[in-house]
Amino acid sequence: MAAHAPVAIVGGGLTGLAVAQHLHAAGVPFRLFDARDRLGGRIRTEHLGTDGFDLGPSWFWPGQPRMAALVQALGLEVFEQYATGALLYETEQGGVIRDRGMSSMQGSLRVKGGMGAIVSGLAAGLPKGSPETGRTVVSVSDAGVLGFADGGSFEADKIVLAMPPRIVAGLGFVPVLTSEVDAALRDIPTWMAGHAKCVAVYDVPFWRHDGLSGDVMSRRGPMVEIHDASAGDRGALFGFLGVPVAQRAGQGDTVAQACVAQLTHLFGPEAAKPVAVFYTDWAEELHTAVPRDQDPLTHHPAYGRPVSLRAPLGARIFLASTELAPEMGGFLEGALAAADEAARWVLAR
Ligand SMILES: Cc1cc2nc3c(=O)[nH]c(=O)nc-3n(C[C@H](O)[C@H](O)[C@H](O)COP(=O)(O)OP(=O)(O)OC[C@H]3O[C@@H](n4cnc5c(N)ncnc54)[C@H](O)[C@@H]3O)c2cc1C
Repeated sequence: MAAHAPVAIVGGGLTGLAVAQHLHAAGVPFRLFDARDRLGGRIRTEHLGTDGFDLGPSWFWPGQPRMAALVQALGLEVFEQYATGALLYETEQGGVIRDRGMSSMQGSLRVKGGMGAIVSGLAAGLPKGSPETGRTVVSVSDAGVLGFADGGSFEADKIVLAMPPRIVAGLGFVPVLTSEVDAALRDIPTWMAGHAKCVAVYDVPFWRHDGLSGDVMSRRGPMVEIHDASAGDRGALFGFLGVPVAQRAGQGDTVAQACVAQLTHLFGPEAAKPVAVFYTDWAEELHTAVPRDQDPLTHHPAYGRPVSLRAPLGARIFLASTELAPEMGGFLEGALAAADEAARWVLAR
């Protein structure tokens, strides 16, 4: 007989973890399964000592009350994005223009230890063993049975699929989804799934001493938008890649080297010797991106639940991810809003 719990949550990104937090607070037993060997999903933080460097989200913003309340409840320290000094423009030909332009990310908020501190904080508050990693769900039936890639199964009275809609569409559904629901899931782009991010860490934020904020807008690349990502006493610069997905596929080391070369061109020889370089291409992450996400979005879509996804899938299955959030879809705040909605659905029945 398959193991059983009143509630199964599939996905241990911010949405799934926040649903788990709500259920735990309400005394509802649950199990949470994530395919990766770590929790956090699109939140991914690399560490040097206690300093955290974000390869996924870096910021939240004033006016996002759930994020503000969560970091406060977890006792995390929040600080403003470094935005003092001049911005650099890099032209297509590699010319570097120094400008006193405003920092586009001024006023954005970062979390000490990186966004991963939120993931660890949430996980630490859950019953031991309830979030399980390395558990890839491949099928779900409206009788409440989850099937795993290793052939195992799990039964639950209610299931929350806390995954991006396009990833949900890749599961085997019993009975099969209607073509309308399937198309609606596949039409919702996964926020930032086509992007890649590189972080170079230095002993000190030397650019600040030259009156530079660390912000760069580049028409040449490989990074097209660069910001200060310093943590603790260490300096760090991170950038979003502008290289097309197909061109960077499987080329992580080469791309990372090209990023350091670009930083050296922009900020001088001190940038040539980072103490660490971290790189993540989200388009290569099977549990985040599908081939349709390979064209990175150039604007933030108007997310929300389309009409055909407004009713739960069958009596037992509820969809929740930042892309389906009632507000702030795409953002971390949206993931928390989606989790609120999913928890209300579970607890109302
Ligand atoms: C590079 C980048 C930068 C970003 N910057 C910002 C920012 O600065 N501010 C901001 O607010 N937002 C930002 N975002 C968006 C933010 O990361 C997302 O809004 C948020 O993390 C989404 O959380 P989620 O739980 O809804 O989805 P996800 O984090 O995608 O979680 C889904 C989970 O489901 C799991 N899963 C997938 N398939 C299966 C399966 N078959 N079986 C079991 N588990 C499965 C995954 O492993 C994952 O853990 C950024 C994202 C990226 C990638």
